Amino acid sequence: MSVKTIAVLTSGGDAPGMNAAVRAVARTALTSGMRVFGVRRGYNGLLNGDVIDMNLRSVSDIIHHGGTMLYTARSPEFNTPEGVKKAADMCRQMEIDGVVVIGGDGSFRGARDLTNAGINCIGIPGTIDNDIACSEYTIGYDTAMNTAMEMVDRLRDTTESHDRCSVVEVMGRRCGDLALNTGIAVGATTILVPEIPFDFEKDVIGRMLFTQKTGKKHFIIVVAEGVGGVSEISKRIQESTGIESRATILGHVQRGGSPTLRDRVVASEMGNRAVKLLQEGLGNRVVAMSDGKIVDYDITVALSMKRVFNKELYDVALQISI
Ligand code: ADP
Repeated sequence: MSVKTIAVLTSGGDAPGMNAAVRAVARTALTSGMRVFGVRRGYNGLLNGDVIDMNLRSVSDIIHHGGTMLYTARSPEFNTPEGVKKAADMCRQMEIDGVVVIGGDGSFRGARDLTNAGINCIGIPGTIDNDIACSEYTIGYDTAMNTAMEMVDRLRDTTESHDRCSVVEVMGRRCGDLALNTGIAVGATTILVPEIPFDFEKDVIGRMLFTQKTGKKHFIIVVAEGVGGVSEISKRIQESTGIESRATILGHVQRGGSPTLRDRVVASEMGNRAVKLLQEGLGNRVVAMSDGKIVDYDITVALSMKRVFNKELYDVALQISI
């Protein structure tokens, strides 16, 4: 079957670089002679037929913008067998042969279900958390790390001036990659991630007191969202050490901003590969990065993979951020 019309959507949490992926999908498909629909607000747009008929200029001037020009959403209706069937029927009605879904694990489950309902889907990993097991890199991750680093650098200026301790929460519910890399880049005394259990007295207080003896006067503790409790941690630090402490939650600033070069380039490569897979008549695949190369996996296999935390990098942090 030749693929004549494809659709592209962004789903779940947004991430800088999603626009570059949408652009790559649209341009690859259009220059290969296909028709392209941009679907608004994730799977909701498929259910409601809320689509833009795209041309080469529909994706102009978006590569450097954060967010997603297609908007994104979570769709409880799609997350039911009836919803998936309705979306598949809508695709058939609009003569859509394949869909590229840019999002996280949840969005890939939807892509798998839609493929099973007869519409070939390809997933592209777009999430700032880098929490997708099959891919060592996700679109938005590099930008978010750099944003978090910049924000903590700013905090550091004031932390230093007042001889304080800053306890900073960075995003990452299940995955400590953002916290680990940001923590190393800002020289955090302690980095707390969901993957590694910690002992508050030894790993937080003990390290602070040790470095204090060596002359350190201000401290940064980076905490992943999945560990949480920065206010409580900050209070306990102040009580135990007498060092004035402040808690900061960076929050959604980490989700926005102009994507870095790396996010733009990886998004462009992944978008291009996704369309080529559809063109080959494939569905239920997810594009990923392995050893720096763009690869693709069966979605079911990808969803069963286990994430491996970079313990070696964590050990580097333990040894040098002291
Ligand atoms: P992310 O893709 O960032 O992980 P979500 O988990 O919120 O974000 O998923 C985004 C959307 O994907 C959901 O709102 C829903 O429409 C769809 N989805 C999530 N899980 C499933 C599932 N198990 N089956 C079908 N669709 C799903």
